[in-house]
Amino acid sequence: MTKVKMPVPLVEIDGDEMTRIIWKMIKDYLLEPYIDLNTEYYDLGLVERDATEDRVTIEAAEAIKKYGVGVKCATITPNAQRVEEYDLKKMWKSPTGTIREMLDGTVFRAPILVKGITPSVRTWTQPIIIARHAFGDIYNAQECVVDGEGMAELVVTRKDGSVERRKIADFDAAGGVVRGMFNTTKSIESFAKSCFNYALDVKRDLWFATKDTISKQYHHRFKDIFAELYENVYKSKFEQAGIQYFYTLIDDAVARVIRSNGGFVWACMNYDGDVMSDMVATAYGSLAMMTSVLVSPDGLYEYEAAHGTVTKHYYRHLEGKETSTNCMATLFAWTGALRKRGELDGNDALVEFADKLEKAAIATIESGVMTGDLYALSELPNKQKVNTEDFIRAIKATLEGMLGEDK
Ligand code: NAP
Ligand code: MG
Repeated sequence: MTKVKMPVPLVEIDGDEMTRIIWKMIKDYLLEPYIDLNTEYYDLGLVERDATEDRVTIEAAEAIKKYGVGVKCATITPNAQRVEEYDLKKMWKSPTGTIREMLDGTVFRAPILVKGITPSVRTWTQPIIIARHAFGDIYNAQECVVDGEGMAELVVTRKDGSVERRKIADFDAAGGVVRGMFNTTKSIESFAKSCFNYALDVKRDLWFATKDTISKQYHHRFKDIFAELYENVYKSKFEQAGIQYFYTLIDDAVARVIRSNGGFVWACMNYDGDVMSDMVATAYGSLAMMTSVLVSPDGLYEYEAAHGTVTKHYYRHLEGKETSTNCMATLFAWTGALRKRGELDGNDALVEFADKLEKAAIATIESGVMTGDLYALSELPNKQKVNTEDFIRAIKATLEGMLGEDK
């Protein structure tokens, strides 16, 4: 069999612990035998980030700006315990956060659905893809506890020196709490553009919701920016693609989401996205079946798994014990990136291979072969739990079968 050619490289970002082990297995078993894999490699394993004073993270983000598409393995975000474990020079920032800031991107999380694992919400037959605006609001706010009597004001000082003041509250002797938060027009616009572009990309309706009836300035600004961009830039593209932009109030949206069959992109303000993405992910089944893609407003893509480095399994692996870690989200990060590379380059063979590999992986689980996390959830009568490597081998066998049928 001739291997699929890849004239333009993909940015490959390696990571840590169990996912680093899975990363290599995916390449060895499922990619390199079939593709002339062309990647520009960046090692974001914690050891290398520490050795380069985290420069390698910046270089990886720059490479995505250059080539347009990247795939990232899960990485450790160091805390005090990791500083000791790895003898780090510093508590380096989250690489995912650094890359997101540099690309000004929005994260879209989509579940992988398989027969035998029924979402908690029975009507959800298609994925709900959540887009979280990961900038501002309560996440970059100033807060204080007011202990005792006092008054709080909002003060905006403009460049020309003019000042706008609004009283927030008078506090009595029992005091209270106060918070000042913000967002920027630029960030809201980037978020909206990423959402409209992504919906067009995957040809699914886009939903957006705020509480604009209560928050007549703050939330309303989000609603208006989305509406203006839709009218001026995206309306005709959406009509051509046969998809809709749908705005409603957040409480109405939540009720409709539960009644829906899924199959849309749900754009969420920062806090809504933080909360709803955990709820929706859990309702679909397993964190190991959740993929994630960072999309910048100017069309750069970085694919990854939504889960972390699966530290508990890695420590078991180091002790020489068997693991049953699910590679699906990491594999779908690879297929997502390869498909996007293929689409951008007009490389149909690469797109086809990515589609086929995803089908093989899903068919393997639906045939009853799965890792422990899915084994605990699956309703298939013939289900069988396998270890990390045997699951990847089983996907390879399914893929070989599919490729054989094509001959
Ligand atoms: P985690 O790696 O997502 O794992 C938490 C638990 O979820 C695991 O112990 C396991 O449960 C289950 N799980 C997650 N992925 C699985 C998979 N592929 N197959 C089977 N089970 C899976 O979260 P964490 O343990 O809180 O974090 C570990 C490290 O990852 C941390 O250092 C954190 O900084 C990092 N992290 C990185 C990213 C990223 O790079 N984007 C995201 C989140 C966390 P059981 O133990 O019950 O089997
Ligand atoms: Mg959350």
